[in-house]
Amino acid sequence: MPIREFCCNGCGVVFEALVFSADDEAAEQCPACGSTDHSRLYSVFGVAGTDKKLLSSGSCGSCASHSCSTCGSGG
Ligand SMILES: [Zn+2]
Repeated sequence: MPIREFCCNGCGVVFEALVFSADDEAAEQCPACGSTDHSRLYSVFGVAGTDKKLLSSGSCGSCASHSCSTCGSGG
């Protein structure tokens, strides 16, 4: 699925969303503050240094990967 990861420019929250088109991407709202001002994060391989301010607590249940910045496991 076309899941993309975004970082809110307003509050810094990182969130994921299903994006099917550029319009969808631009319309995505931050789940924390509702802002549509966000930066797109590229694959988890390039998210080093991202603050882990995800809203969801606990394990990573929204990604299908074994290892991601949310899980933070392995290493
Ligand atoms: Zn926000």
